[in-house]
This record gives sequence, C-alpha cells and structure tokens, in this order.
Amino acid sequence: MRIEEYKDMIYACGRCNYCKGIDFDDRCPEIFTQYWESSTARGRMAIARGILEGDLDYSEDLVERIFGCFMCGRCKEECKKAAQIDVIAITKAMRADFVDLGIKIPEGGDKLAETALSSGNIFADTPSMHNQWAEGLEFTEGSGTLFYPGCLASHRFKEKTNILVRVLQAAGYTLDFLGDDQTCCGTPLWVTGKVANAKQWATDFLDKLQARGVKEIITPCPSCFRAFDEEYPELLGLEKFPISVRHTSEVLEEIVEKKKLKFTVPINKKVTYHDPCELGRYRDIYNPARNVFKALPGIEFVEMARNKEEAFCCGGGGAVKTMYEDHSNNVAVERIQDFIDTGAELMTTICPACELNLTHGTYAAKIEARVLDVAELMAVAAGIVDEEILDADYFPED
Ligand code: SF4
Ligand code: SF4
Repeated sequence: MRIEEYKDMIYACGRCNYCKGIDFDDRCPEIFTQYWESSTARGRMAIARGILEGDLDYSEDLVERIFGCFMCGRCKEECKKAAQIDVIAITKAMRADFVDLGIKIPEGGDKLAETALSSGNIFADTPSMHNQWAEGLEFTEGSGTLFYPGCLASHRFKEKTNILVRVLQAAGYTLDFLGDDQTCCGTPLWVTGKVANAKQWATDFLDKLQARGVKEIITPCPSCFRAFDEEYPELLGLEKFPISVRHTSEVLEEIVEKKKLKFTVPINKKVTYHDPCELGRYRDIYNPARNVFKALPGIEFVEMARNKEEAFCCGGGGAVKTMYEDHSNNVAVERIQDFIDTGAELMTTICPACELNLTHGTYAAKIEARVLDVAELMAVAAGIVDEEILDADYFPED
C-alpha cells in the first residue's frame, strides 16, 4: 500500500485538532460539508493508522472521506505548528491505493479521468471548439515560450483567456501555442488516484514539449503550473522539470516591475482577492497579485478576513466538484460570504477553477457580482479592453 511510505507521519498525529479548528466552518471545507470527525485531517490519519494496523480495510464505506477532501492544504498549514504531516500527499496516496485495489471511486472522478484520457481534455471538446478562445490572436511557433491555458481556461473562460494573451502580447511576450495539439495537463489522473495513466501522460507530454523546443511554459492555471513543475518530475523520477514553468501571477508582477505596460485608466473600485490554494499554500505565492493591484490606478484593495495562509478554499479543489458537486457549491457560497463581508465590489482571483467555482457561488448566494481574473483588471487599466467588463451585470459570451 502506498500509505506505508508515510507511516511515520501518520503515527505523528497527536490529535491536537489544529487542522480542524474550533468550529466546523473555520478551516477545513471537508468537515464543513460532511460534519464527521472522520472527514477531517486528524480523522483521516486515524483511518490510515487503522488500515496500517489491519483494524480497518479500504472499502467503499470510506470513499466519501477520502475523495471528499478538497486537497486545499489548510490542515497542512496548521499542522506545521504541530507534527508537519503532509496531509495532501497522504490523501493522494490513499486515493491511489483505492485505484490499485480496484475499489470503486466516485463515478464523477472516474468520468473526469476517462474523459481526459479519451478526448484529451476534460470537456470532450473537439480541438476547434477548445481553441475558440484564441480567435483573432496570432502566435509564434517555435518562440520557445509556450502559452498553455489548460482545459478550464480554454473551455469555460474564452474571453478571459483571450484578454490575458492580449495583455501578455502587448507587454512584449512572444508566445507559442500548441493549438490542436494541446491536451489536458493530466491533473485529473493523479487527483483521482490513476497513477499509471498519469505516468504515461507525463512521459508523452514532456516528449511533445521537447520536440517543439519549448524552453518556458506560462500558464494561468495553478493546477497546470504545479502539474509540470511538481507532479511530472515526481511521476517521471526527475529531480527537476527540464522546462521552466511560470504561473501568470508572476508574469503579471514582472510586467508591473519592469514597467512593460502603462496604466492610465483608473479602475475606481473596491477590490478583494481570493488566494488559490495551489498557488498560495502549495507554493507560497501570495504577493504577486497584491503587488499588481498596488500598481493599478484607482483600486481600493481590501483583504477578506480569511486570507493568504488562512484563506478558505473556493470549493474547486481535489476534483470534488466532479464527485460531490453540492459539497463544492456549499463551500463556494461560504467563501462568497467572506467576499460580501468585505463590502468590496469586485472579487478577484488568478485561477480558472477558483473563478468558476466562485462564480457559481455568486449564483447560489443570489448576488450580482463578477469574479474577475487579475489580468482583466490589468487589461482595463492598460486600455486593452473596455471597462464595461468590470460591471456587475456584464455577461461574456462564453
Ligand atoms: S494538526 Fe496535524 S497533528 Fe494535529 S490533529 Fe491535525 S493532522 Fe493531527
Ligand atoms: S486538505 Fe482541506 S479539505 Fe482536505 S482535510 Fe485538509 S483542510 Fe480539509
């Protein structure tokens, strides 16, 4: 069993309860949606211990506890003060154990992985549909700098992704794009425990990138960013991914620092920012978006009560949205309440999965508000797009 590798960590849990906090709606979105002790990190450590000691078997009875975790890392952050347990790695290992043992995983997770494997993207899009966002844009094949939007940015956020590329190109980046050759990064495979498929996917993808002469990847998706930068090396047994990978948050910050664009259009809005889990807690990338806001005229920036390391998940992590959609939506509504409490007019973030889930949260909370990408605010301030995209009732033709 894969959890044997984490035996020392599993036994290190002293059941201090830092991971859960005092109230069920404080830190962990899994207990927020399931209420059981067994749906917290410390509960999962107890389950893992029971399995290691032979008192408990992996079975379908445990599936919601293991696959209902959003992998948001909030517990891991708290556990730094306690036992330094890597709850995410252990949860990933438990999901992989399920698959290795042939135990049924939630249907939505299976479907997600199968769709990525059979169609090359998570929406079963044809390439022409998947690339509609790029209409009217020109790319430079062989430039060495690959713009890789990933599935969600391609399919769900055509206008946002188009705007982002216009910002990058206006700032002087010469971008290549895989076009019809673009496939999913493979995140749906390891997140659902399908490690063998993931290994093959990573091997094929790296071959494709190297054959094209890609030297650097720029992506707006924190999952894709981590896929190339962290998961591929782990899957392929490499010390480091041979291609440099940057998330757009760092590129937008670079645009500001190196004054690659002039910002002349005032935003004149009160703005807040949601830290994506895979960027913040996973990679310690908290400040780039905040630094961009400082450079854009007319922004009044306000933090949500739960921010940076303590940010509450948007509900989009761990593939829970495809497996337990109601859990995911409940978490999104809770996070939207944090936004409402600030009195801000604009909710921003820098992750397509967060943008999707938080937007669903605004619908469920019945409020009229836009969830914008940081790049969209930069585009308005630089005069690249009209400021109407900031209006609460603006609805893109996505
Ligand atoms: S914070 Fe860590 S040590 Fe404490 S109960 Fe949670 S998992 Fe166990
Ligand atoms: S990763 Fe997030 S959802 Fe999963 S147990 Fe930890 S805090 Fe809860």
